[in-house]
Amino acid sequence: MARVYNFSPGPAMLPAPVLERAQAELREWHSTGVSVMEMSHRGKDFVSIAEKAEADLRELLAVPGDYKVLFLPGGATAQFAAVPMNLRRGKAKVSYVSTGYWSGKAIAEATLYGQVQVAASAKDSNFTTIPPVSRWNVDPDAAYLHYTANETIGGVEFHAAPEVDGFPLVADMSSNILSRPVDVRRFGLIYGSAQKNIGVAGITVVIVREDLIGQTLPGTPSIFDYRQQADNGSMVNTPPTYNWYLTGLTLEWLKEQGGLKAIEARNIRKAEKLYAAIDASPFYSNPVDPAVRSRMNVPFRPADAALENPFLADAKEAGLVNLEGHRSVGGMRASIYNAMPEEGVDTLISFMHEFERKRG
Ligand code: PMP
Repeated sequence: MARVYNFSPGPAMLPAPVLERAQAELREWHSTGVSVMEMSHRGKDFVSIAEKAEADLRELLAVPGDYKVLFLPGGATAQFAAVPMNLRRGKAKVSYVSTGYWSGKAIAEATLYGQVQVAASAKDSNFTTIPPVSRWNVDPDAAYLHYTANETIGGVEFHAAPEVDGFPLVADMSSNILSRPVDVRRFGLIYGSAQKNIGVAGITVVIVREDLIGQTLPGTPSIFDYRQQADNGSMVNTPPTYNWYLTGLTLEWLKEQGGLKAIEARNIRKAEKLYAAIDASPFYSNPVDPAVRSRMNVPFRPADAALENPFLADAKEAGLVNLEGHRSVGGMRASIYNAMPEEGVDTLISFMHEFERKRG
């Protein structure tokens, strides 16, 4: 197989050992005679897979005992709706921070379930920075405060949980979950779809403080109801079992890498060298405020937009694939999640130098 580095924003590359193990276990899991895909979700074999995934996630993130861990279908977009359905708790408003495309999507969906107050917006900077928390204006009656921990398209990341007291903090960590340690205690709820750092599309992890759940809006579908899901081990219906298994394999791989501190150190090295290469060159640029640049998604452009397509074509030829920016913004974007090895970033940087030398 040709060596390819896949910079896709999601579904993103998986660690090679995860794919190899899935391949080895595809036809038959652990001498059971059946594939994971063919197992009853309530049988002891699948239940052991599900429980191991939860235990590994709890260990990696040091999830406190009074938090529930759920594995839910529907991607992060389902959580855009489920969060207000479950956490409004009779309050008039919910509060959101607007930092780009994905927070915009979360706000639009929450608006379907009641009043949304925007506590702060980065629109003035064209979403290239994050307004300082001291200037946020969170409605005192808000049921919770929601923010997008990493804007996958804009390449803007919160490097610490915002210091805001008095509201449960809700974070969409879809594109940076498990890329660094976080103090779960700081949050009322964390959610993240799996297809970037923890497996494949179709399953979403929700970590929620137990006292916040149980007061769903009337009409909330059972599969969106955190209380019902928590009481039923995330099996209100048949869950996406194979995706859950792949998440489990990815979590095991992460533990083998040394856990979140080790993966964070690697992620910092990868991001720092890529931004350094961009900043050192008069040819490439990244528009984001250096203080909030994402370690996971690095958007960049050549000085001349006419060189974007040749860049992408030559990159593909060199085995560097899926570097196009999101259709809403154009340009290029390198997504360098946990599974991207450091050599992948080194190879991209060498390619960028070479392209600049030839075409710059
Ligand atoms: N939030 C963020 C930050 C994302 O990057 C994405 C997907 N790229 C989503 C939400 C939506 O996730 P899904 O497609 O799993 O619903």
